Order: sequence, then C-alpha cells, then structure tokens
Amino acid sequence: MGSQISLLSETVINQIAAGEVVENPASAVKELIENAIDAGSTQIDIEIEEGGLERIQIEDNGSGMDRIDAVLCLKRYATSKLQTVDDLFELRTMGFRGEALAAIASVSRLLLKTATDKEATCIIAEAGAVQSIEPCARGRGTTLEIRSLFYNVPARREFQKSASANTAQVVRTVETLALAHPEINFSLTSQGKVLLRTDATDWVGRIKEILGEDLLSQGIEIASFTPPFRLFGYLAPALHAKKTRLSQYFFLNRRALFSPLISRAVKEGYGTRLSEGLYPTFVLYLEAPPTDFDINVHPQKKEVRFKNEKQIFALIQNAVHQALMGPLPVAGEPMLLAEDLPSFSPQVTWNFRSDLPSHESALFEPTFHSLAVVGSYFLLQEEGGLRLVHLEAAYARLLFDSLSKKQTAQQAQGLLCPIEIPLTRDEKEFVEEWLVEFEKMGISGRLIGKKTVAIDALPEWLPAEDFIPFFALWKEKKDLPTAIHHFSQGVKRKYSLIEAAHLWKTVQKCTNPHISPTGERISTILKSEELRRLFQSSKND
Ligand code: ADP
Ligand code: MG
Repeated sequence: MGSQISLLSETVINQIAAGEVVENPASAVKELIENAIDAGSTQIDIEIEEGGLERIQIEDNGSGMDRIDAVLCLKRYATSKLQTVDDLFELRTMGFRGEALAAIASVSRLLLKTATDKEATCIIAEAGAVQSIEPCARGRGTTLEIRSLFYNVPARREFQKSASANTAQVVRTVETLALAHPEINFSLTSQGKVLLRTDATDWVGRIKEILGEDLLSQGIEIASFTPPFRLFGYLAPALHAKKTRLSQYFFLNRRALFSPLISRAVKEGYGTRLSEGLYPTFVLYLEAPPTDFDINVHPQKKEVRFKNEKQIFALIQNAVHQALMGPLPVAGEPMLLAEDLPSFSPQVTWNFRSDLPSHESALFEPTFHSLAVVGSYFLLQEEGGLRLVHLEAAYARLLFDSLSKKQTAQQAQGLLCPIEIPLTRDEKEFVEEWLVEFEKMGISGRLIGKKTVAIDALPEWLPAEDFIPFFALWKEKKDLPTAIHHFSQGVKRKYSLIEAAHLWKTVQKCTNPHISPTGERISTILKSEELRRLFQSSKND
C-alpha cells in the first residue's frame, strides 16, 4: 500500500484558513478595511456587488506596498506587524496573523493595485496563484478588488446567505469600524448606490452619523476613569431596549468586540429599568492596558477574555448605574479618581480631538441662565433641568484643546514681559525639542544664550503666572493630558459667575465639550423629572 499521508499544499492550507478567517463577504471586508487602517489611511472607500460575493473593492490612501511586499502579502504568514510571539500579547495593530490576504486570495480572483511614493504595482491572482505582476499607475495607496468570492469552494459558496443579508452584514461591519475610527473617513457603495459616507472626525460627531442623533440627544453619556481603565460612550434610555443585541456596540482599545460579559454588565447596570428579555442599546468604548485581556481567542479576533472578569464587570455595571442615576454623590464612588494615568499605547489613548473645528459636538445651544458657582461647580438652568459643570474638568478640556490648537478661536497672546526659565544642565539637551513642541502648542519661545528659555506668547487660556508651574508638571508627567489634569486640579481658581459662564460657553466650542482629556465628565444634567423623583423618594425615607 502506498503512502496515504501527504503534506497539504499551501493552497489547500490557505483555503482551510479561509474557512476560519473569511466566512462571508463581511468578514473579508473587515480584514481588508483593517489592513487599510493599519496602513495609515485617512480615506477608505468600499464598493460591493451582490452583497460582496460578486465583487468587493477596497480603496485606501495608506502607505501602499512596494513590489516585493505586494507579492509577499498574498503569501501565508506574510505580515509586517508581528515579529515575535511576545508581540501577540501586545497587540496594537488590527491585523497580526498574516493570513487574511492569503486566505482571501485563495478563494477568489484578485486584483491588487498598490503604490508607494516611488512605485506602483499591479498583481492579478486567481485562487491564490499569481498570474501577472506589472508596474502600473496609481497614487499612493492600495486598491484591492476581490471577485467571485468562494468560486472555487462550492460548498462554502452554497452556504452563503442572500445578497441582501450579506449587504446588511457588510454595512454593519463598515459602520462598526467607522465608529471605532472617527479620524478616518469611510464610504460604502452597494450596486452603485451610496449606503454610507462619513464626514465627522470626532467621536461624538461620528456616533451621531452612524447611530443617529437620537442616541446623543436622548441618550445618557457615560464617562468614567478608574485607573487603568477608561470608559466612554452613550447609553440609550431603557425605552429603546431591543429584543436582540444588535444595537450594542462595544470597543476595546478601538477594536469592535462581542463580549457577553460586557453585555450582561450593562444590563445589570440598568437594573430594574429593563424588563426580562430586552437588551439595552449602547455604544461603549473601553480602554485598557493590553496586558489585561486576551483577544487572540478567536480567529477573527471578535471575542475577548479579560484577566480579571469580576473587576471589569463591576466597573461597567457601576459606571452604567451611575450614569443612569445622574450626578448624585455616591459613597465610595470609584469614578473620577484620576491619580496615575496609564501610560500605554499612545495610538489608542483617547483622542477626542479632531483637526476640524466641530460644530457637531456642540450638542445644545449655549443658551442658559447662570445660577451659581459652588466650589468647583457651576450651576446653570437649562431647558429641561439643572446642569452642573465641573469647572476644573472644563478648564482641563479647554486648555488641552487650546494647547493642541484644536479650538476654533485659538489666539496666542503676546506677553508684555517675557517669562524667563533658567535651564538645568540636563534640560539643555531637550531645549530644541521643547521649542518645537511649544511652537505646535501656540507657545512662542526662544533661547537666550545657553542657559535660559524666554517665552514671548501663550495661548489665551494659559495665564502667564501659570506657565511655570504648568511647565514643571508637564516635564514631570511627560504627557500633556496628565499634566493638564493635575494642573487644572491644582490651580484652585475661584471663578466668578461671569467667568464660569464664559468658560462654559467657550468649552462648547471644543471638540468634545463633555469629557476632559483624561476622561472625566465635564458636565451632567439633572432633568426636571429626576429632580421630581428625588423629592418623591424622600417621602419614603
Ligand atoms: P496581517 O494584516 O495580519 O499582517 P494580512 O494578510 O491581512 O496580514 O496582510 C499581509 C500584509 O500585507 C500586511 O502585514 C501589510 O504589510 C500588507 N498589506 C495588506 N493590505 C495592505 C494595505 N491596504 N496597504 C498596505 N499594506 C497592506
Ligand atoms: Mg490584516
């Protein structure tokens, strides 16, 4: 008897992998968009036909690939993102297994056009076998066209859903990725019809574009920071609860994931507000250090395992509960105690900023009646209730936007008398770097001799007398949001009613008037009915 065992060919291996990574057009779209995101694209255009089974095209303006990489990328385990096993545990880019493209290529007819600044290459492949490689014309970026997905795996093709079901899944996939990446613009076209086109470049604007205005206007904002975890998002009122989990969006470090744990924790947070069998609508972004969870448990990286499930459960449940309860002080409140900030991946740290002045984020007109300043809080009457503004958090937001030039009315104020900062021996080394950083922040500085830096102009929201203490903190913390957080807590400014109102009004123009750069809530509203309820419940005390 001859040998029964033979090694599987690479094509067969790829086709098997395709079963895991690409089960339908939506999963192919997800992989391809994630590659485009990893390539640093700012615009990603997706086209599909017949739900993607006939044709998927993804066009991006990212880094592109040179000829060698373009050929390599269709091979299994070709990845530019992972070098050692340890990297798997510090996953920061979207892709990492280096098998998606090979898998997709093995079950389709593929056309790849990709260009770096130097060269453009066009590759045609069929069932993973390269047919031709030629130079071509294209601006920097990549276009991938996938035709006849699964044409050579009839068993899989047969089990595909209808075109409309596949289209719906692709739409959801693109929407989810768009929610996770507000800084990137997406468009999705199906059968030549535009189904989605994004415009906004900040979180709030993006949520509004994808999930609709209702979630923002009627929803309850959630923002908490319990080191090292940050949570941000919106919860829909209990009334909007659905029979499925489809309107639940959860992102962990910007990666969309399905987590029964999170889903349950949110539901528990709603408590008795929700009846059995209903699932609350929400969009939640959690940021956690990569060492606290494992998302490699699923080939499509859609599921997550947390190291400390109890802790995460309690965190989410409390934050939801708290958000729904309004601003009542709760004994032992775990939130908003931002002491030590996590110092992990700057790419995934909250970035509520945008490069465009955002009108989207001003969710309500700044028409209000100032009532009082009580300690660090500004009270104002608004249509529908009483708003409480945390002045330190508001100031932190303003200062941050102002220093990162994100504010609409950015104006540097020339100083009558320059501030002179003597330099220590160690500091001299970094002066050049500082000056460049300063310039970016609207601070003009120059070197006098070798031992002193002179500051000539500062942004409007950073008074001259505050610059030296602020600068000291910045040097110490080495991170702008952290420095601003500590600084704004330390200044203990006494605001008059007019100053508080001015601060609040100006904050409305910021990219995110709701959350400080370190994730603290800036303001909250006590709705009239909640006020009523407060007094009703006191009858029973
Ligand atoms: P992974 O994303 O896991 O590395 P893929 O098979 O998805 O594996 O992609 C293989 C490699 O091809 C990537 O690591 C990347 O270097 C390159 N690549 C794929 N798509 C693009 C793209 N749109 N732009 C630039 N490079 C890309
Ligand atoms: Mg990939």
